[in-house]
Amino acid sequence: MLSVKKLTRKYKNGSAYIKAIEDITTNFNVGEFVFVLGASGSGKSTLLNVLCGLDTKIEGSVVVDGIDTANFSKKDWAIYRNHYVGFVFQEYNLIEHLKVWENVALPLQFQGISKSIAKERALKELERVGLGKFSDKKPNQISGGQAQRVAIARALITNPKVIMADEPTGALDTELGDKVIEYLKEVSKDRVVVVVTHDEELANKYATRLINLEDGKVISDSNFDSNYIEETKEISFDRPKMSLGMMFKFARNNIFSRMFRSIATSTVVSIGYISIFLLTFMIFGINSSLSDTVSSFVPEDQYQIYGTENVEIPESKLDELQDMSEVTDIRYAVSENAQFTSRVGTTQQITLNSVPYDEALLTQNVELFGRFPDAANEIIIDVGTAARIRDLNTVDEDSYEYIYNLIKNNEIDVFYINYSEFDTENKLDLGTFKVVGMIASETLAFSNSIYMDYDELLTASETIHGEATYREVAIAYLSIDKEADISDFKITLRDDHELVLENFFSSITSSIEDFMFTALKIFIGVASVSLIVSGILIGLVVYTSIIERIKEIGILTAVGAKQSNIIGIFVIESAILGLMSSLIAVLFSLILTRGINGLFNSFIEKPLSLLSSGLFEMTLLTPKLWIIGIVIGFSIIYAMIVGLLPAFKASRLNAIKALRRE
Ligand code: ADP
Ligand code: MG
Repeated sequence: MLSVKKLTRKYKNGSAYIKAIEDITTNFNVGEFVFVLGASGSGKSTLLNVLCGLDTKIEGSVVVDGIDTANFSKKDWAIYRNHYVGFVFQEYNLIEHLKVWENVALPLQFQGISKSIAKERALKELERVGLGKFSDKKPNQISGGQAQRVAIARALITNPKVIMADEPTGALDTELGDKVIEYLKEVSKDRVVVVVTHDEELANKYATRLINLEDGKVISDSNFDSNYIEETKEISFDRPKMSLGMMFKFARNNIFSRMFRSIATSTVVSIGYISIFLLTFMIFGINSSLSDTVSSFVPEDQYQIYGTENVEIPESKLDELQDMSEVTDIRYAVSENAQFTSRVGTTQQITLNSVPYDEALLTQNVELFGRFPDAANEIIIDVGTAARIRDLNTVDEDSYEYIYNLIKNNEIDVFYINYSEFDTENKLDLGTFKVVGMIASETLAFSNSIYMDYDELLTASETIHGEATYREVAIAYLSIDKEADISDFKITLRDDHELVLENFFSSITSSIEDFMFTALKIFIGVASVSLIVSGILIGLVVYTSIIERIKEIGILTAVGAKQSNIIGIFVIESAILGLMSSLIAVLFSLILTRGINGLFNSFIEKPLSLLSSGLFEMTLLTPKLWIIGIVIGFSIIYAMIVGLLPAFKASRLNAIKALRRE
C-alpha cells in the first residue's frame, strides 16, 4: 500500500550535505505493526515525515496505492495528509484553545463534514480510547497519557490507511506507554501502523516487523516482503477545505486567548481613528453650521456695491442701477443700533434692519409667525427679541407659538440713546411700532433684531445722525444667478459705472472653503501618520500571534490545512483587530464629541452669541453616520491588507520545524 524506492533526504550543512536518510527501499502492507528503531539522529523522524507527506524534498520515490507521488501538487499532498495518514507525535500536539472533541474532529472538518456529524464521530472515537467523558475539557485539563490517546483518536477519525507515530510513548511512563501501544496494535489489523522509537524493549514486545536504522540507512528489516507487488488504485478524494466559519473561529480564539493584548493594541490603534473622526466631525460641523448661519442672514442673491475709489454712490446712480434688468432691487445698507424698553422697564439693545424687498428673503431658513409688514409702522421681530420683551428666559422650538401669541399686535417704543456722549437723559424717540410678525429659528434664539420698513429705517437713521448713514454701501438684489453672467455684470459695473459688486455669501463661502482646504491638509497628515502607526502595530501583533502559534500552524498543516487556510486565519485575525480598533474609536469619538461640544457651547458659543447680539450659533463637532461607516469599513480592509504579509509568511512555515518547536 505504501512503498519507497531509493529514498534519500539531504540537508544542507554549510557547503556540504548531510544525508538524514539514504537510499532506503522498502514497503508497508496492511496489517503490519512496524517499529522503526535507531539511535538519536539515525533518521527515524525524517523517514516518518517523508512517509507522512510532511516532507517532500526528497530524492527517489514514494508510491501510494501504486501511484508515484513525484507529480503530487501541494493540494495532492494536503489530500494525502488529510485522508491517508493519521499522525501521532511525541508531544501530542493538540490545539490548546480547542476542546478535546474539537481537536479530534478537526481532520474531519477539513473534509467538509458538518460540525454536528464531526462531533458525533469524534465522541465515538473518544469513547473507543476511553475518554468519552473528557470530550468537553481543554487539553491542559487532562493528563499526558490521556492527551496522547486524544491524539490517537484524532489520527484515527478519518479512518486513514496509515498511522504514523513518532516516539508516541516518549513523554509517558511505561504503563501508560504500553496502553497507547496496545491500542495502536489493535488498530493495525486493517491498516499500516508505523511507530518510531528508540525503546528496543517496547519494539520487541509488540512489533510484527522491526526496521533498524543507522546513519540514515536500513541495517536490518525483520519481515521485509521482497515479493511485494503494488496494486494500483484510484485515489479520488475531495480536496480538504477549511470553512470560513472555522477560519473565523481560529482567528477569534487567537484574539480571545490574548484579550488584554488585543484590547490594548486596538485601543492604541484607535487613537489614530479617533483623531480622524474628530477632525472630520469638526470639518463637517464647522462647515455646516457656518453655511447655515451665513445663509440664514445673508441671502445668496444679495450683493454689496461700493464705489471703486471708495467714493460715495450718489442716489442718481442707484436709480440708474435700479433700471438695469439684472437688478431686482437696490437700496442703501442701513442698520441702526437702538433700544427698546421691556415690559419690566429694563432697556435692551436692538438692531434695526430694513425688511427685505420680499418675504422669501426674510424667511429663508426661518419660520414666520404672523405676516410680512405692509404698512410703515409695522414691524417683524425675531424670537429672541420677542422673548426679551416679554421677559422670558428660555426660548425653544415648542414655545415659538406661545411667544408669538404674547407679542403679536404689541406696540413697542423704540428709542436711541447716545451712550458715547453719556447722554442717557436725552432719548431720541424713533417711533412706536406694531408687531405684526415674528421670525423664529434656533439661530435666532439669541438674536436682537427688528425688521422695519426701509424708508422708516432711513428716517430713524436721519433722526439719529442728521442724515442716513452708510450711504457709500448699497445692497443690490440681483435676478441673475449664472456665475458667468454675474462676472460679466461685474465687469460692466466696474468699467462703465466705477462700481464694485461683491457677494457677501460667496466671500464667506470661499473663506469657508479655504478653511476646509487647510483642515483637509491637516486631516491627510494626521490620517497618514496614524495609518502608518496602526499598520505597523497590527502587523506586529499578527506577527507575534503567528510566532506564538507556529505549532498550531504545523498541526493544521499536518491534518490537511492548505496555505490559503492559514493565510485566511491570520487575515481574519487582522480584520477583527481592525474592527475592534475602529469600534473603540467610534465609542471614544462620540463621548469626546459630546464633551467637546458641551465645553464649546458653554465657554465659547454662548458668550459669543450674547456679545455679537445673536446670529452666532454652531456645533463644533457633527458626527456623520456615513463617515463612521466608511472608517469602520476602511479599518477592516486596511488591517487585512497589513495582515496579509505576516499571514503569507505563516502559510509558508515549514510544518516539520513548526511541530518540532516546543
Ligand atoms: P532521529 O529522529 O532518528 O533522531 P532525525 O530524522 O531527526 O533523527 O535526523 C536525522 C539527521 O538529519 C540528523 O543528523 C539531524 O541532525 C539531521 N536533520 C534533521 N532535520 C534537519 C534539518 N531540518 N536541518 C538539518 N539537519 C537536519
Ligand atoms: Mg526523531
